Amino acid sequence: MNIDELYQTIILDHYREKHHVGLREPFDAQVHHVNPSCGDELTLRVHVDGDVIQDVSYEGVGCSISQASTSVMTDLVIGKGVEHSMGLYDDFLEMMHSKGKIVPDEERFEDAIAFAGVSKFPARVKCALLSWSALRDAVGQTSDKES
Ligand code: ZN
Repeated sequence: MNIDELYQTIILDHYREKHHVGLREPFDAQVHHVNPSCGDELTLRVHVDGDVIQDVSYEGVGCSISQASTSVMTDLVIGKGVEHSMGLYDDFLEMMHSKGKIVPDEERFEDAIAFAGVSKFPARVKCALLSWSALRDAVGQTSDKES
């Protein structure tokens, strides 16, 4: 199996069996993001306690890349610190804008490495970033509330 096939398999696995799918309580912020260029839509909730993302729950419709990206993202951030998760967001964004040039750190990115392949296709980059943008927006709203 070559690397592109491996990436494809990871994305399809998450698309077929989405992790942490559904909208749950309690939550501190809910956002709705759309990617008009593809028709992807995502409603996402976060539950933040102190500096830790306790839960990310969601309902979405759209292409396999946007759906799989959301599933992968929840695996990476649930139970993790807000600062760590926002650092991942920054690194993921950088990778997605690298047109395939950045080779992701598998230990840090886990299944999100699969989107390195997607970064070569500018039209699909927004699909992969939808969930991460929604996460950052939702987490930002929870910190506004506390201050
Ligand atoms: Zn899409």
